[in-house]
Amino acid sequence: MSQARIIDGKAIAISVRDEIATRAAALLKTSGVRPGLAVVLVGEDAASQVYVRNKEATAEACGFHSVKHTLTADTSEFDLLALVNSLNEDPEIHGILVQLPLPAHIEESKVLRLIRPEKDVDGFHPINVGLLTCGEMNTALVPCTPAGSIVLLKRTLDNALSGKSAVVIGRSNIVGKPMASLLLQESCTVTIAHSRTQDLPSVVRAADIVIAAVGRHEMVRGNWIKPGATVIDVGINRISAPERGEGKTRLVGDVAFQEAVGHAGAITPVPGGVGPMTIAMLMANTLTAARRQLGLTEDT
Ligand code: NDP
Repeated sequence: MSQARIIDGKAIAISVRDEIATRAAALLKTSGVRPGLAVVLVGEDAASQVYVRNKEATAEACGFHSVKHTLTADTSEFDLLALVNSLNEDPEIHGILVQLPLPAHIEESKVLRLIRPEKDVDGFHPINVGLLTCGEMNTALVPCTPAGSIVLLKRTLDNALSGKSAVVIGRSNIVGKPMASLLLQESCTVTIAHSRTQDLPSVVRAADIVIAAVGRHEMVRGNWIKPGATVIDVGINRISAPERGEGKTRLVGDVAFQEAVGHAGAITPVPGGVGPMTIAMLMANTLTAARRQLGLTEDT
């Protein structure tokens, strides 16, 4: 059996980031404006701290104006809303990202809905969800992980997505649903699977494109994959790895990678697949948001 091509998300993310840095430098030259990204972190969640540090470092590497607001876990909802309001009004800030999850006493949807849709670089505001669903790509800001997954698919399939059958496993608002909308816009025939789907292996076997966004380690087995299919593994799961030593762990996806490489035509690894693309697309959204706020169109 032939081995799948490994989709190098890290390398593609670097090329996307380089292109963004070049375009940001051009924007600075022509308009004197640096794209501005504000990241808000509430509390001490260790994984969130790592994500925020990466986002800040990447924004700086792209030549952006990057601001981080770190608030203590006992910050009131009122104070967080006040900060979002001030960032909404700040002309140097074009994109606002509030790192999730928020502490339990803060209503997440209240905070996310206060972010002005044109500054909502996570793409979670209902206005952006609606614009994406309507296919209004010149005004929508699209969630970063699905946007990055589409870039990987287009590069892997040479833009030939039209007419392909795609299955998205997972129906969350941040990955599954926007992913399905994007695939539909690429004229794929889209099936959305979830925890109540019957005979998931058969559903997956019918697909030319498989997007796994479940959060269950190695749930999608190799023999579920149609020979030659393209597999995008969004899942990030930490499992114990006693072979690396006592107490050691490693990251794996939602797809049993070692099995799937023998069936798929192309597949993303975990880590090094979708993950790096998510941050690259956050930068792309921030640049897009800045350009739109300056009245520039996609082609100017
Ligand atoms: P959610 O927990 O919000 O959603 C999981 C989805 O999987 C749900 O729709 C659920 O169905 C479905 N599901 C659960 N069990 C099964 C099953 N046995 N069979 C079929 N479907 C099932 O997760 P997210 O969408 O937020 O994240 C998914 C994964 O992607 C996680 O591993 C997460 O860490 C990763 N992730 C990676 C990112 C990256 O940058 N690479 C960014 C964001 C997420 P139902 O709705 O019926 O409950």
